[in-house]
Amino acid sequence: MDVDTRLAEAWVRAMAAAVEKEHGRLTELDSAIGDGDHGSNLRRGFTAVLAALDAPDAPAPAGPGAVLTKAGSTLISKVGGASGPLYGKAFRAIGGALPQPGEAPADAAGLGEALAAGLRAVRELGKAEPGDKTIVDAWTPALDAYRAAVAAGGGLPEAAAAAAEGAERGALDTVPLQARKGRASYLGPRSIGHQDPGATSTALLLRALAEAVGR
Ligand code: ADP
Ligand code: MG
Ligand code: MG
Repeated sequence: MDVDTRLAEAWVRAMAAAVEKEHGRLTELDSAIGDGDHGSNLRRGFTAVLAALDAPDAPAPAGPGAVLTKAGSTLISKVGGASGPLYGKAFRAIGGALPQPGEAPADAAGLGEALAAGLRAVRELGKAEPGDKTIVDAWTPALDAYRAAVAAGGGLPEAAAAAAEGAERGALDTVPLQARKGRASYLGPRSIGHQDPGATSTALLLRALAEAVGR
């Protein structure tokens, strides 16, 4: 199975559907340790992403990379909170790391490299380390699990499922952490005992990849 335009579009649509379904929970988590807008931020962003994909005058995307790059650019332009630029840069990096039209399509290992570029972009922009109670704490174990699945001979379905599980585990593991980046860090030790909203949305976005691959 290759990473083609159809899969990229299916992933983006599955992300938008997951955000539509779970935005209330994301906002609830952000109300506990932030400013209560994470769900609405992502909802606004992904609504615009879908509108960009479905615009009647939109040209057909020039490959899977173009789909992710467009999604990222839309998130950057529509989401004001911390998560907009972070996810926006991440998806732009994923899009840029995928093979361009005319090149051989990415396989499971290639998508792993693209996901690694996404995590690098988040870390470059946000300067968060693992353990700071952020998006990085879901994306890092997700990437590790993805790579382990590929190293064990798994294809895209196995690797994407492993990434989703890794991200979900990582999001749960943020509960005992004290936030050191973003708004939650203003709470100091009072941020302990709550699940990080951004790590939770990362788990949704990677679960969406596993769903899209399984389709
Ligand atoms: P804001 O905090 O501006 O209201 P959101 O509520 O949309 O933005 O997003 C909050 C989430 O962003 C946090 O739960 C955290 O996971 C993530 N985040 C904040 N700062 C950083 C950072 N520097 N690096 C990575 N993720 C971060
Ligand atoms: Mg917020
Ligand atoms: Mg905000």
